[in-house]
Amino acid sequence: MKILVLNAGSSSQKSCLYELNDVLPDRLLQPLWEAQIDWTHQQGIAELKVKTAKGDRLEEELASDSRQAAISRMLETLWRGKTQTINDLNAIDIVGHRVVHGGQDYQQSTLISPDVKETIARLSLFAPIHNPINLEGIEIVENILPNVPQIAVFDTAFHSQLTPAAFVYPGPYKWLENGIRRYGFHGISHQYCARRAAEILGRDLPDLRLITCHLGNGCSLAAIRDGWSIDTTMGFTPLEGLMMGSRSGSIDPGILLHLLKQSDLTAEKLDDMLNRNSGLKGISGVSGDMRQIGEAITQGNQRAQLALDIYIHRLRAGIGAMLASLGGLDALIFTAGVGENSAVVRSAVCEAFGFMGLKLDGEKNQHSPVDEDIAAIDSAVRVLVIHTQEDWEIARECWKLYSD
Ligand code: ADP
Repeated sequence: MKILVLNAGSSSQKSCLYELNDVLPDRLLQPLWEAQIDWTHQQGIAELKVKTAKGDRLEEELASDSRQAAISRMLETLWRGKTQTINDLNAIDIVGHRVVHGGQDYQQSTLISPDVKETIARLSLFAPIHNPINLEGIEIVENILPNVPQIAVFDTAFHSQLTPAAFVYPGPYKWLENGIRRYGFHGISHQYCARRAAEILGRDLPDLRLITCHLGNGCSLAAIRDGWSIDTTMGFTPLEGLMMGSRSGSIDPGILLHLLKQSDLTAEKLDDMLNRNSGLKGISGVSGDMRQIGEAITQGNQRAQLALDIYIHRLRAGIGAMLASLGGLDALIFTAGVGENSAVVRSAVCEAFGFMGLKLDGEKNQHSPVDEDIAAIDSAVRVLVIHTQEDWEIARECWKLYSD
């Protein structure tokens, strides 16, 4: 079975083609073909990069900012030219899409129908950047491959088992009736990491209490019990919770009231301030990229040091909150750009939990661990670094739904 995965971001589009058999493999499969389009480097230019399992590569600049044109070209590289992997697009059995917001409507991956598309469109109210892009991807594929089933895999679904105590905001009850509640995000990554952690530890997932720290440009935590997220730091939007690259995370809402009363701030300016000019970038004035924060600290930059200190303080506090929800912990898991690569962040975070017998193996932490347990042998809690594989998780979800 050939499964095409589309994973759309606000300024990038990733895609992979997997081939799966009748039995779902435990281990990750490498894709036959993978492609990425990046719109961030030059205005109006889409940079396309493609590689295949056979080692063929292609790089192209497309002079267009139309997503449709770029995605169509990307899919063409699957069946034409030097990265050709299949004879024609009809060889694809199923297409899986990452869809950011499934609201209260979707608790699991779902076969896309006109009704499902309508709901994804309605939920754009809650995810104005992402859901329209996800829908556009679905429609582009629908035009090119009208007879191939498509599946939506939601970033919110893994958090759909949160209890009302965890998902209802203590505002007026009407908020809840209007869908203003906590949803949580990064669910596909948290779900993949939980399953991979069980494999690495050789344990059954339902027996484990886990905290997954997804620390990329966006950052969130999930507390996982019985194989589901029972608490998480992101909420109604991906702005709640931890300090992030350029997002503030949680702040006193009174600050917003103060700013609105004292100045001529509009909703757009506030959005820009909180989503694009806060977090590591806002505090340091250097960058939202943890590597550049690290370099600035080495050069004695005090604001970069403060940014890192706040990041760690809030991360520790967030983990503390997840611990209380779980009532214990078998493994703490680090993933995504910062979680996978920053030994400094991992060790600073873990230091705070020494009181409960959590101990890092300093050597292992330093040596670029991938899918490895980096806790000391006598640690009371395991500490894992896992390379997140969202596209593979989407392919697995498609396989499961299709094979049912
Ligand atoms: P996204 O959330 O966009 O998927 P990633 O998971 O790729 O992002 O994470 C991006 C972030 O990872 C970068 O902004 C950078 O701060 C961080 N990062 C990547 N490599 C390193 C590294 N070697 N050391 C520290 N931080 C890193």
